[in-house]
Amino acid sequence: MEMLTDFKTRFTTFFEQSHLPMKILSLEGRVLAVNKAWERLFSTSREELLDYNIFSDPQIKNTKLWDYIQRAYKGESVEIPAFFYDPKNSGKAGRSRWLEAWLSPVKDEDHRIHEVAMILKDVTDKIETQKALIKSISDRKATEEKYQILSERLSLAVKTGNIGIWEWIPYTSHVSWDETAEKIFGYDVKSLPDTERAFIACIHPDERDNVWSKIEEAIKEKRSYTVEHRIIRQDGVQRWVQGSGMALYDERGVPYHMMGTVIDLTEKKLAEDDQKFLSETSDHLMGSFDYKEILKNLCEHANRYFCEGCFVDRLLPDGRVERLMVSHKDLFLSRQIMEIGGKVFPHSEEDHPFIKALISGKPLLIDYGEYIGGEKYYRDLLSLEFESSITTRLKGRESVLGIITFFTLKNSGKKLTSRHIWIAEELASRASMAYENALMHQDSQEAIRSRDEFLSIASHELKTPLQSLTLQNQMRKRNLDKNLMTAFSSERMVSMIDADLRHLRRINRLIDDMLDISRLRAGRLTFFKEKVAFVNFVKDVLERFRPQMDAAGCMLSTSYSPEVSIEMDHYRIEQVLVNLLTNATKYGAGKPVRVEVKTSSDRVQVLVTDKGPGIKEEDRGRIFQRFERAISSNEVSGLGLGLYISRQIMEQHQGRLDVLSAPGPGSTFIVELPLDKND
Ligand code: ADP
Repeated sequence: MEMLTDFKTRFTTFFEQSHLPMKILSLEGRVLAVNKAWERLFSTSREELLDYNIFSDPQIKNTKLWDYIQRAYKGESVEIPAFFYDPKNSGKAGRSRWLEAWLSPVKDEDHRIHEVAMILKDVTDKIETQKALIKSISDRKATEEKYQILSERLSLAVKTGNIGIWEWIPYTSHVSWDETAEKIFGYDVKSLPDTERAFIACIHPDERDNVWSKIEEAIKEKRSYTVEHRIIRQDGVQRWVQGSGMALYDERGVPYHMMGTVIDLTEKKLAEDDQKFLSETSDHLMGSFDYKEILKNLCEHANRYFCEGCFVDRLLPDGRVERLMVSHKDLFLSRQIMEIGGKVFPHSEEDHPFIKALISGKPLLIDYGEYIGGEKYYRDLLSLEFESSITTRLKGRESVLGIITFFTLKNSGKKLTSRHIWIAEELASRASMAYENALMHQDSQEAIRSRDEFLSIASHELKTPLQSLTLQNQMRKRNLDKNLMTAFSSERMVSMIDADLRHLRRINRLIDDMLDISRLRAGRLTFFKEKVAFVNFVKDVLERFRPQMDAAGCMLSTSYSPEVSIEMDHYRIEQVLVNLLTNATKYGAGKPVRVEVKTSSDRVQVLVTDKGPGIKEEDRGRIFQRFERAISSNEVSGLGLGLYISRQIMEQHQGRLDVLSAPGPGSTFIVELPLDKND
């Protein structure tokens, strides 16, 4: 007992007089005792400290110390590595310093904890010396360690000039960036405190936790880290970077210096995004053959990604440009844009910037804020608050289809720059392909439709004369069976044979036409040219055709020029004339037909004029195409092949076949052949 009391007294004296600051904490975190050294260190009185509860100090709760304290309260003796203590943070006066600490639970024989003892050691001087050492290391720049970490990256950085370098001294929180890093982070370092807080401020708030955990993990495992993350620059622009780093550790394994690199990945990321967008666009464009739907889809997709609106102008066959569609969420604005372009402008306006893009094929980027020209077109778009636009050509495999313009409006937060040109061009080429495929699909649908129609008309056309022939022969057989010989008088026989021959001629012609068509398609229509006295030839054709004209009740009038000799395939040219005469008697039945042969110095013409229904202007081009008819097969039968074959024949003779547009009823078809210059 005596000894114990003695020990207590001696311990109290040691506690009181020790130069190490010490304190004893209760299980509730209250300060039970502090020694003089502690009072000295914190320049506070014992009374003041006795009120203090470590558990309710927010300063401590938010630091690493808290983990250690908890471990000590669970029964572990812990050593806290050097930490920086600034009394200002606790609202106290005094000097800031580096401290190390030991925490030790005071236990009884049953290992029950009664108090926790805390001993501090002021290591400010030691740390300051270390810092000075580190500073000298970083000043010397070429220490071996640093060289090993950075040599590879530095050489790359020097080469590309876009890798930034940073270093961080954890003890002092000091962070320094080189010029490139400064540029990447978009901060004027002088305007920021040069601490890690500046660096944290740059990291996108959504990514801070991730970046820090990567850094901490790397420090813990003593290895380097690489992390891709977004940053927010001082100007508010978001960019993508890749940060890498590695720490140097002191003899106790505490990191005292960290260095790393930062690379701007924004362009790469944007290119990746662009690629993703483009492949999504292609997916969107597939699966539809309706070109309006295709363009609408494309524009809406583009609006969601990089522009605000789009419009498409189509190049018409006559060289004019027509606004096909506008895509923007504001329908009123869309209508206004539609109206501006709705006025079709002529192709000859080569100065017009959109026409320029159309002709040159070069994409046109316009910044409306900077544009100084005075064209009405710009003024109109400017008045609609246009900010920027890119116009680029829609080009098919063989021809230009039109132009597409992507635009943004003022204050939309989006602006088109040269970086968007390639994506606009890529989109345009995808749109062109889809557009052309859709048109081709439409054409092939149309071809299938007209082929089906042709087949049904052709079979009907063949069936009519065949049916007549069959009926006639059935009747004849019945008459023979009944021995009715009066039905076979020589007079009746002549008219029967005439009728049969007419039907057979018709069948023959239909089959010839169909064969010609397939020969034409295969390029196998053959020509045997020879010198022909042309006027006589026309007279012969008319002579042979006269019975058909008479049968149709068409009176023929003619006029001929002096004879000329032409090198031609007379069978084929007769086919052309017979086609025209057949049409004149078919469509102008019962009305007069006039045939004129005219000769000039270099050509000869045959004009076939009838008084039939005439041909409307919109049908005049079409009727020369395969299967095309301007009249329904219920009105007048036909396959829509005669004019097509005839024109092909004329082209093979370097001649032409056309219909003259004469006002009033009736049509004049004109066949023209060149005269041989040597004649
Ligand atoms: P088909 O007469 O067998 O229909 P064509 O190729 O000869 O075929 O003529 C094509 C179309 O041109 C006709 O279907 C008709 O509509 C129109 N056409 C041709 N010749 C005349 C004509 N003399 N008068 C009015 N229409 C005509």
